[in-house]
Amino acid sequence: MRQKKIPLRMCTGCGQMKPKRELVRVVKSPEGEVSLDTGGRKPGRGAYVCPDAACLKAARKARRFERAFQGPIPAEVWERLEQELPAVAPSSGTPSAAPPRADSHANPRDKEAAPDDA
Ligand SMILES: [Zn+2]
Repeated sequence: MRQKKIPLRMCTGCGQMKPKRELVRVVKSPEGEVSLDTGGRKPGRGAYVCPDAACLKAARKARRFERAFQGPIPAEVWERLEQELPAVAPSSGTPSAAPPRADSHANPRDKEAAPDDA
């Protein structure tokens, strides 16, 4: 009987080994575009980082992504990554600005127009 193995990846920012699912994959496509891999299956060279702006900044400062991707990363890409990072973070604490319950009980009469007595 073996324990189920959790795939670990190293955060490019803080250097900690964490379960892959708790990290965000940053990927450089074959075309050279750097983006967050929200679905976990974009093609290209990947590096992992905690869903934490501090880790992203640390990685940026140490140029670790540049090393992983073997090329420079433009400032606008960093800005985009920093903006998108909170959105892809697995929901664990830190409820940010907008709670996702805008119209949970919207109009319950949506299907009243079903012509059922044919
Ligand atoms: Zn980290």
